[in-house]
Amino acid sequence: MSRYDYDLFTIGAGSGGVRASRIAGQHGARVAIAEERYFGGTCVNVGCVPKKLLVYAAHYAHDMEDAAGFGWTVGERSHDWGRLIAAKDKEIARLNGIYRRLLEGAGVTIFEGRARLVDPHTVEVAGQRVTAERILIATGGWPELPDQPGAREFGITSNEVFYLDRFPKRLVVAGGGYIATEFACVFNGLGAKVTQLYRGSRILRGFDTDIREFVGEELVKTGIDLRFNTIIDRIEKAGDCFIADLSDGSKIECDAVVYAIGRVPLTRGLGLEEAGVALDARGAVVVNERYETSVPHIHAIGDVTNRVNLTPVALAEGHVLADRLFGGTQRDVNYLNIPTAVFSIPPVASCGLTEEQARASLGAVDVYRTTFKPMRHQLSGRDERTLMKLVVERATQRVVGCHMVGADTPEMIQGVAVALNAGATKKTFDSTIGLHPTAAEEFVTMRTKSPDPIE
Ligand code: FAD
Ligand code: NDP
Repeated sequence: MSRYDYDLFTIGAGSGGVRASRIAGQHGARVAIAEERYFGGTCVNVGCVPKKLLVYAAHYAHDMEDAAGFGWTVGERSHDWGRLIAAKDKEIARLNGIYRRLLEGAGVTIFEGRARLVDPHTVEVAGQRVTAERILIATGGWPELPDQPGAREFGITSNEVFYLDRFPKRLVVAGGGYIATEFACVFNGLGAKVTQLYRGSRILRGFDTDIREFVGEELVKTGIDLRFNTIIDRIEKAGDCFIADLSDGSKIECDAVVYAIGRVPLTRGLGLEEAGVALDARGAVVVNERYETSVPHIHAIGDVTNRVNLTPVALAEGHVLADRLFGGTQRDVNYLNIPTAVFSIPPVASCGLTEEQARASLGAVDVYRTTFKPMRHQLSGRDERTLMKLVVERATQRVVGCHMVGADTPEMIQGVAVALNAGATKKTFDSTIGLHPTAAEEFVTMRTKSPDPIE
């Protein structure tokens, strides 16, 4: 008999925690999980899923504009925010149930409440103390708010946006990352007057420079007032609305200010440091390649480790960890060529190295780049353009990066990621027959190298 109540106690039933617990349970381990807020975590409740539903909602506005060019008479239109949010909530409740049943089906004991470590083998949750041989920290992250006057009092974050009672007709979005860009497009599509403020000169840091410039121009064309090198200095309440004082001296009156300036790992008050678990300067749990913390029987995965903060990565880490600990298999997560998308309108998707990263790490590269107005917009009045780009290592002719802005991009890049992981060369791409007529076929028909940049 084990001296502990459980073989594994997981704190946090989000993407990573649910996957690890479910797989561990299926391997026969005695598993318990604590969740203080919502089953399925950030992704299901205030992240990927509701975000994508809102993106679809916003896209219909653009689709209706396109439809007119194809002979449709598009009449009076209006949007009901309340109905959208109610429908979204219903879908999320359905998913919450699925996540709970996944755990129950794998024999996992569920504790509802906030958990914290009392000692390296004991967790306190919902007024009980339980012991476990291993503990998994999968508590995710939380949106940050800045210290500027009024920001904490009047600003909101992605957590609140999904539950706004009233549609904000005038919205200010602070940030130039994934969340800010996606929300700017959602609310712009739904009819709000959106101002997006970014402190730098190109949004979406980390993406290929061409992509960053191109998508910025496309967002402006859709009507977003995208301002660079600008931050909010202060927010004040003025009756029913807010006044944002900006660093360039101007003011904006608006109905809501959304901060999307990054997320911090959720480790405060968990008792981690007291248990000897090392955190980094941002409060992220430090782990080795086996997801062991500085206390080896305490593990951590997903956003709380602040490495690659994406759902499929948290899922993969949870799965690999459970297999290693209880399934007798030693697999590693493949962190190479992780595809990623920004669900802006038009969307961005990328896989592999940016041109800059490839030049810095591989030396000479060949770049293939094309921009065009896709067929779906040829008859519509909208001037939405597409950019596609392949980055190829010159010496080996391996395709090392693939980047795109344009309709359906995320659906395409998932497949291209398989090719990159398989080590496809430019010749492999060239010898693949295109699927006509699509935008995707450009990936296998680009033949003209872009000139090398002047050093
Ligand atoms: P989470 O999913 O955050 O789960 C952590 C869980 O732990 C939560 O349920 C929390 O309530 C619980 N918890 C925390 N502390 C305690 C405690 N002390 N006791 C009990 N329970 C606790 N990623 C993508 O791949 N694609 C996207 O399109 C995408 N869109 C996003 C959009 C938004 C607006 C946001 C915010 C994120 C998005 N992400 C997206 C990122 C994705 O949501 C995260 O990478 C993913 O959810 C991380 O999973 P996790 O298991 O590490 O943590
Ligand atoms: P990001 O890190 O992507 O972006 C934060 C943005 O805020 C950056 O533009 C940053 O500027 C800016 N910023 C940071 N601090 C300040 C400040 N004090 N004042 C003004 N601006 C500031 O974070 P997000 O919150 O957008 O998203 C968090 C993570 O969630 C993402 O990195 C991603 O991993 C995940 N996510 C994934 C999605 C997807 O897969 N589609 C969607 C949403 C989230 P700078 O660039 O100069 O640092």
